[in-house]
Amino acid sequence: MSGFFFQKLWKKEKGVSYSRLLRDIDNKKVKQLDLVPARREVRVEYDDGRRINVPIFSNDNQILRAAESSGTPLTVVDGRREQAIRDLAGTLLIVLLVVIGLSFLLRRSAQIANQALGFGRSQPRLKPQEDLQVRFEDVEGINDARQELEEVVTFLRQPETFIRLGAKIPRGVLLVGPPGTGKTLLAKAIAGEAGVPFFSMAASEFVELFVGVGASRVRDLFRQAKDKAPCIVFIDEIDAVGRQRGAGIGGGNDEREQTLNQLLTEMDGFEENSGVILLAATNRADVLDTALTRPGRFDRRIDVGLPDRRGRVAILAVHARSRPLALEVNLEYWATRTPGFSGADLANLLNEAAILAARQDKAEIGDAQLEGALERITMGLSNRPLQDSAKKRLIAYHEVGHALVASLLPAANKVDKVTLLPRNKAGAYTRFIPDQDQSDYGLLTRSSCFANLVVALGGRAAEQIVFGPLEVTQGASGDFQMVAQLAREMVTRFGFSALGPLALEGPGSEVFLGRDWFSRRPGYAESTGQAIDDQIRTLAKSALDQAMSLLNSRRQLMDDLVEALIEEETLSGERFRSLAGLT
Ligand code: ADP
Ligand code: MG
Ligand code: ZN
Repeated sequence: MSGFFFQKLWKKEKGVSYSRLLRDIDNKKVKQLDLVPARREVRVEYDDGRRINVPIFSNDNQILRAAESSGTPLTVVDGRREQAIRDLAGTLLIVLLVVIGLSFLLRRSAQIANQALGFGRSQPRLKPQEDLQVRFEDVEGINDARQELEEVVTFLRQPETFIRLGAKIPRGVLLVGPPGTGKTLLAKAIAGEAGVPFFSMAASEFVELFVGVGASRVRDLFRQAKDKAPCIVFIDEIDAVGRQRGAGIGGGNDEREQTLNQLLTEMDGFEENSGVILLAATNRADVLDTALTRPGRFDRRIDVGLPDRRGRVAILAVHARSRPLALEVNLEYWATRTPGFSGADLANLLNEAAILAARQDKAEIGDAQLEGALERITMGLSNRPLQDSAKKRLIAYHEVGHALVASLLPAANKVDKVTLLPRNKAGAYTRFIPDQDQSDYGLLTRSSCFANLVVALGGRAAEQIVFGPLEVTQGASGDFQMVAQLAREMVTRFGFSALGPLALEGPGSEVFLGRDWFSRRPGYAESTGQAIDDQIRTLAKSALDQAMSLLNSRRQLMDDLVEALIEEETLSGERFRSLAGLT
């Protein structure tokens, strides 16, 4: 280092030639000479204080001789040592940098490892959710479920009343119902109403990458919950962990079963009236492990169903609170137009209508926007209108066939509209309003089932009457599928045929691939299978015959209705019936 410093000072002076240096030495002008063989130079200090570096030959003897003869002091500087020191310093610096870098990396990876190890523990999600704004009045149309849960809230608020009478606070409440009916919403409402801590977690979050973490999370959740009692623990979509253990081909999933086992153990571990209520939601109660639903675990089951018409009005009203509706909008009317809609569907309807209104620069949501939103939700986005007139005419006859048959049969569903404007799910379509009883109570009469078959085949019947048996199209294939399914159910499940009042098949839903692999065989003889097929075919055949005879005698009316449909593209149910003279 010091050499480096010197060098700088020495270089300040202008150079001196070799021969001049020799002369200066002879003339005794030089005070001191430092020879640096390694650098092939000599550092010269003059009497007057000047310092100069002069390059020399590698084996220079002349300087030595000159210095000797003139008596100038000369030292030899070992430049290699200087160099070595400088190199060492550089190396040390690099080593230092590497060490710092490494320790930084190590610390980082240690942090990551820590996170992985304490992973089940340090989940921020396990904090109780606060300031939940949802209240019971935001949940409508599922009043029975709401009432039962209000009871749970009372448990949490005044447990003494119940304990004094010897009543046990329920441990687990299972909310079961189709998607979008408001289960999650209801759980949030309970938490909002009860004013107790609310731990919420999706079951799929339990099942994690690392083996054992699922179980440890359950343990952790319950440990925290017990600390905070009274409180509510909500597990959404519990079927993700609570599926039947060891079911299906290939057995179960270890990780999931471990998690489920832990859940069961924790539920048993609660003392009575500990003030922790476990709430879970699922839309697949049929796949839940039976151990989960036995008394002492999820001992209350609350069914959350699709809302009926009154419920739909109430739900629409909830979601209309935050949206400007035009005065013309009658929610009762829209509730009748939306049978089978869940709460989420209804919320979506109003939302789509609001989007449409915004796009059309409207200040409020009117019937037109709601109509557009309903179309979009039920039939998908609109496509380009049909152009080709021959094809269009055939499609018009097909749809008029459906609609006319439906209007003629008292047991059939009412026509809501007939349209030739295609949506992405269908080229043209006829929409029906399901019967009130049917949509609210799920009750189907034998006559309405058969009427549905006739209506479904009305399209093909019209094509055949107008264009002849060779010109009919495959456009009826969707209708046939529906006919096959309904007719099969009528025969094998509903007891609507000559085969008598026997359920020959269960509701066809295979949840676990191959769960009943070995026990699966049709519950009837081969000859019965033959009879079933015959019955189905008979039903379909007689439905087509009836549709043909209804339409055959009204050929002129069909032509008129088709003209009107092609002209107007869309006919509402009323317009259609008045054109057909059937009001
Ligand atoms: P899920 O039953 O599938 O858990 P959610 O509770 O998540 O359904 O419902 C989704 C959304 O649908 C809710 O946030 C709410 O806006 C709306 N919704 C569903 N059911 C109702 C209902 N009964 N009353 C009011 N809004 C509802
Ligand atoms: Mg949900
Ligand atoms: Zn059809």
